[in-house]
Amino acid sequence: MAERISELLQKKIADRLGFYEDIGIQQFYRNRLPEVATGVEPASSISSLSTHSNVILREEATLPKPVRKPELPKPAPVAAPASSKISLPPLPLAAGPSLFEAVEKIADDTLLKIRENLGECTRCKLHGTRHKIVFGDGNPKAELIFVGEGPGADEDAQGLPFVGRAGKLLTQMIEAMGLQRKDVYICNVVKCRPPENRQPEEDEVHTCSPFLLRQIDTIAPKVIVCLGAVAAKTLLQTNRGISQFRGEWLEFRGRKLLATYHPAYLLRNPPAKSEVWKDLQKVMAVLGLEVKKGKPA
Ligand code: URA
Repeated sequence: MAERISELLQKKIADRLGFYEDIGIQQFYRNRLPEVATGVEPASSISSLSTHSNVILREEATLPKPVRKPELPKPAPVAAPASSKISLPPLPLAAGPSLFEAVEKIADDTLLKIRENLGECTRCKLHGTRHKIVFGDGNPKAELIFVGEGPGADEDAQGLPFVGRAGKLLTQMIEAMGLQRKDVYICNVVKCRPPENRQPEEDEVHTCSPFLLRQIDTIAPKVIVCLGAVAAKTLLQTNRGISQFRGEWLEFRGRKLLATYHPAYLLRNPPAKSEVWKDLQKVMAVLGLEVKKGKPA
C-alpha cells in the first residue's frame, strides 16, 4: 500500500512553510515537481523543504520511493574579494549553502513589512520571557549598520536596541565617528532578550536571523559592523574566534563587513577600546568621514 505522510508531519511541514512565508522566503515553491517525481533530494535545507511543500500541494501524493541521497555538493570556495582592500580569510563554512546564501533579496521589501511579518513573534522559546521585541532602530537608508547580539534588560524594557550601559558606549563611539544614532541603523541577531543575558542559542539564531538578513538587504548599507562574536559568527557562518578576523574587511552578500569587539566587552576590558577605535576609523575612511588621528575626544 502506498505510504502516506502523517497528519502530524503535514502540520509540521505546513507550520515550517508558514514560517518561511512569514519571513518572505517563497522562491522555493518554484519548479520542484520533477525532483519529487525522481525522488532526488536537493542539497540545501530550504530546497528539501520545497520538496515537502510539493508533497503537501499534491494532496493525495505518495512518498517517493527511497533513493540513495546524492552527496551534498562541497561548499563553494570563498570568492576572491572584489577590491584588493578587502582581505577575506578562508573562514570555514557550514556544509551546503547557508540560509543566507540560499535566500535571494526580496523585491520591494521594507522595514515596515519585515516588522509586520515578525508580528508578535512566538517562533522560538525567547518569546516566553521577553517583554518587548527589539526590532531595530535608526535610519532606514543608513550607510552603516551595527549588528549586536541580542537585547539586554534595558532594551527588553524599552523595545529599543543598545540603550543600556553598553548602548551608551556605542552611542559615544558613533558620535566619535562624527555621526549620530539617527544616522545609522542598529539592530541585533535575535530580537528578544535571552534570559539572564545568556548567549542566544543556535535554534534561536537560526529562527530569528532571516529577519536580520532582510533588514540588511532592505537598508542596503555600505558597511556592516558586527559588534561581537555572535553577530560576526552568524553573518559569516564561521566558528572562528572573532580575534582572528577582527578589524579585517570581509564581505557579506556583496557588502563590506567588519567585525569588532562588543561594547559590553569594552566595559569589562577598557584597554580594548583603542582597537575598536582603530576599526571604526577604517569604517570612517570607507564612508568618507573625516578620520582624526589619535583617540576620540
Ligand atoms: N547588547 C546587544 O548585543 N544588543 C543590545 O541591543 C544591547 C546590548
